Amino acid sequence: MVTERDYYEILEIDRTAGDAEIKRSFRRLAQKWHPDVNAEAGSDVRFKEINEAYQVLSDPTKKQAYDMFGRAGVDGGAAGAGFAQGFGGLGDIFDAFFGGTAAGGRRTGRANTGSDLRYDLRITFAEAVLGTDKEIEFPVLDRCTTCSGTGAKPGTGVKTCPQCGGRGEIRSVRQTMLGQMVNVQPCPRCHGEGRTVETPCETCRGDGRLERRKKIRVTVPAGIDEGHQIRLSGEGEAGPHGGPAGSLYVAVHIQPHKTLKREGTELFLEREISIAQAALGTRVTIPTIEGDEQVEIKAGTQPGAEIRLRGKGVPHLRRANLRGDLHVFVKVAVPTRLNKKQRELLEALAAASGESVTSGSGILDRVKDALG
Ligand code: ZN
Repeated sequence: MVTERDYYEILEIDRTAGDAEIKRSFRRLAQKWHPDVNAEAGSDVRFKEINEAYQVLSDPTKKQAYDMFGRAGVDGGAAGAGFAQGFGGLGDIFDAFFGGTAAGGRRTGRANTGSDLRYDLRITFAEAVLGTDKEIEFPVLDRCTTCSGTGAKPGTGVKTCPQCGGRGEIRSVRQTMLGQMVNVQPCPRCHGEGRTVETPCETCRGDGRLERRKKIRVTVPAGIDEGHQIRLSGEGEAGPHGGPAGSLYVAVHIQPHKTLKREGTELFLEREISIAQAALGTRVTIPTIEGDEQVEIKAGTQPGAEIRLRGKGVPHLRRANLRGDLHVFVKVAVPTRLNKKQRELLEALAAASGESVTSGSGILDRVKDALG
């Protein structure tokens, strides 16, 4: 990252330049190449370079080392290393200049908006698919009813904040090497609201809020999925002194179903049938969200075959008239224990199909066969 250009060249000055000239030239170039001002590609690199050159040439000790040994005098040594580490990014350089104040200062949202809240709501699998209405109760900082949130004792007034004159912010202008810097901060007296109360409300001590338990109904739309959040704006914490309330985020958690698995709008189910049922066909009971349903399994159904129950899946969250499907996967169970009758019938089946089977799996059967 270290550029090899001469520091004097970078600052566009002679080697004989005095302190005042170094400073003047640096100021002019820094203003010209500051990335906030100069949109040209590479202006940030240039700005950094200018800054680096100035750090060395404005320091008599470093300047002397540089004049004698060039880069080697300031790079490899402790001073050089410390310098390189100390100025990792542009932000650092900026901070070093302006004492931590980025252009315009930082303001995050309205100063008196209430906090957002989160509520974890557990619902059943069917409720998630079909939608539901739930009453929830939670503690919240709510608007004080005595003062309607103003924080002023009823009958007393609210006056314009004397410190900021009602603007809610304090501006300070500072002269820096790069010119005027305007710093804007919320007024510390009125917290950015622009007004203060004459006599605070006794119920809420002037905050405009009181903690209470709040009950609200939450409509959970059909098709909601695990991890989804329902945002209820204005149902969060009230803002101080009548400020707007934050949002309530209801995070939905769904109990798993005993047999049904879900993936988005599709439901999946595995259903076991016997060899005879697969070969001859049958009717089976399938649990759907709306209740049990009789489903026909056709004769000759293969293991792994899929039967699709259209529209028996999960509604699309935003288009409730569109529903996914319920996919039933057929599993054919091969019997592991046969009674005498079952074995005889399967052997007869094999014989009728001309298939060779290992007849009689038990030693006793083979002994019986050997004895004839
Ligand atoms: Zn009050």
